[in-house]
Amino acid sequence: MEQHPVFGVVNDIQRMCTCDGPGFRTVVFLKGCYLDCRWCHNPEGKRRFPEVIPYVGNCEGCGECLTVCPTGAVTVDDGLGPRIDRGLCSTCLQCVKACKYDALVLWGRIMLAEQVVAEVELDKMIHVNSGGGVTISGGEPMAQPDFVLAIMAACKARGISTALDTCGHAPWEDLKRVLEYTDLVMFDIKQMDGHKHREYSGVGNELILENAKRIASLGVPIRFRIPIIPGSNDSTRNWESAARFIECLGDAVLGVDLLPYHPFAGGKYRAFGMDYPYPGGEGLADDDVAPVIDLFLKHVPEVTVGG
Ligand code: SF4
Ligand code: SF4
Repeated sequence: MEQHPVFGVVNDIQRMCTCDGPGFRTVVFLKGCYLDCRWCHNPEGKRRFPEVIPYVGNCEGCGECLTVCPTGAVTVDDGLGPRIDRGLCSTCLQCVKACKYDALVLWGRIMLAEQVVAEVELDKMIHVNSGGGVTISGGEPMAQPDFVLAIMAACKARGISTALDTCGHAPWEDLKRVLEYTDLVMFDIKQMDGHKHREYSGVGNELILENAKRIASLGVPIRFRIPIIPGSNDSTRNWESAARFIECLGDAVLGVDLLPYHPFAGGKYRAFGMDYPYPGGEGLADDDVAPVIDLFLKHVPEVTVGG
């Protein structure tokens, strides 16, 4: 049967990563997300399509972008750099080409699945020698399920181990298709209380928890990634609830990776000329994280910090 080319939108491909699964990984970050977490560290990954993002600190105020923009989507404020009105921008890229100071940058590449796989395959020997592989991450990769499926299936066919880094908020039918070609799932649990989950991420957690159960019941190895966000989910009650939920999922669970909140995301938002919706205060000290590690270790085989 003739295979149709599958396209998707890639935010970035990073090589030799050690954080997103075992061994050395090639991590493919896709654009688009079903959630809108207030503390999101990757605002450039949220929208599904390529977009122009300003680096306000680079702007010299020359005004070239204003001259070339056909839709009036770009404005430049003294001292604040360029701003893009997403409703007006047609992504024609005239401003990106005109700016000599790299103050306007295109984020997101439209790629064929086979192009992504070709890039991943460059690292195949490193994967094999280190016990690594490819990790598909986001944004939320399952916002582009056919693209993920095509990449994962082709990688598996080439003997490359595969991991999926997901928030779990995706139709089960899509997840099930991808799981056929997935060696490891890294699954986010942000909050066990459904109302709070909706308050901080824009969606409830019912589908997420249901999908976690379904993945575990298929026996696909799964690690849970749990952000520790001060003022949002950092209560003993939440950790107890998450630990008991994960423990009940059985042998498929490999462990938990705790991801303590870090305030560096605020600098990224400033660089992009965006308001950070969750300033959240200082980063967490080891003493803040230690009790959470102890609590989870009573319920799961392994706990790491940083993932
Ligand atoms: S964004 Fe670039 S082109 Fe526009 S005013 Fe700033 S430096 Fe000039
Ligand atoms: S990409 Fe095109 S439409 Fe969008 S702000 Fe730049 S010049 Fe204007």
